[in-house]
Amino acid sequence: MEIERQKKIFTEQLEHIATQKSEFMAMAGHELNTPLTVLIANLQVLEQLMDGQDTVKYVQNTINQVNKLHALISDLLDVSKIQIGQLILLKEKCNLYALLSESVNSIRNMKINHQIIFNSTRKVLPVYADIRRIEQVFKNLLTNAIKYSPGQKEIFIDATIEDHKILISVQDTGIGIPAGELKNIFSSYYRVPVQASTFTGVGVGLYVTREIVKLHGGDLWVNNEIGEGSKFYFTLPLA
Ligand code: ADP
Repeated sequence: MEIERQKKIFTEQLEHIATQKSEFMAMAGHELNTPLTVLIANLQVLEQLMDGQDTVKYVQNTINQVNKLHALISDLLDVSKIQIGQLILLKEKCNLYALLSESVNSIRNMKINHQIIFNSTRKVLPVYADIRRIEQVFKNLLTNAIKYSPGQKEIFIDATIEDHKILISVQDTGIGIPAGELKNIFSSYYRVPVQASTFTGVGVGLYVTREIVKLHGGDLWVNNEIGEGSKFYFTLPLA
């Protein structure tokens, strides 16, 4: 009985520490993000003022690095928000087809070597969703598809309606995921060990992505054949 009592006390203490850690991360993340946003805006002004000068590349390089830092902090902040139940959605009615098209175009403009082939069975895919968050989900899957298929040129995006749900898939022909790792990759801070040294990342994108989809009442999963690439799917309720 005494052991049980001690176990309960330790568990409660651990839960308390975990919550405090997440609350601290959420607060620190917010404080770090605010000056970074100002820094990015100022650098963009500087870039425009220097347009055409040889030295502009240093400013562009700095913008890229600060953007990466901003994205990393935002991801860590999202993990903390999820863990303390404070990832709040701002939902509105929107056309998912338009959102996907715009996201595909903005990724295409990033001077990538991949060809993105986007097909949708309909031009109107109505959802009631947090547009910014769904864009984050889609871009996460798409940038992963690009990152984990170096040298492979094609990424296929398909959108359709099935069983009163919108079904989106993002397929690459890259390195694939070992079968034994399929259940792990949605955990926070998890990266497939054999790939971790070759590709940059911190292993939170898929965790955050799946949580956002679940908060919308949808689902996210992956099918893959090692050596033949990965195919990620997500669903969202039809509005
Ligand atoms: P990150 O890419 O920062 O490591 P993610 O949470 O997005 O974090 O992905 C977790 C892990 O899942 C990655 O480290 C990688 O091992 C694997 N993974 C994700 N997407 C793909 C993909 N399209 N192809 C192969 N492996 C992938």
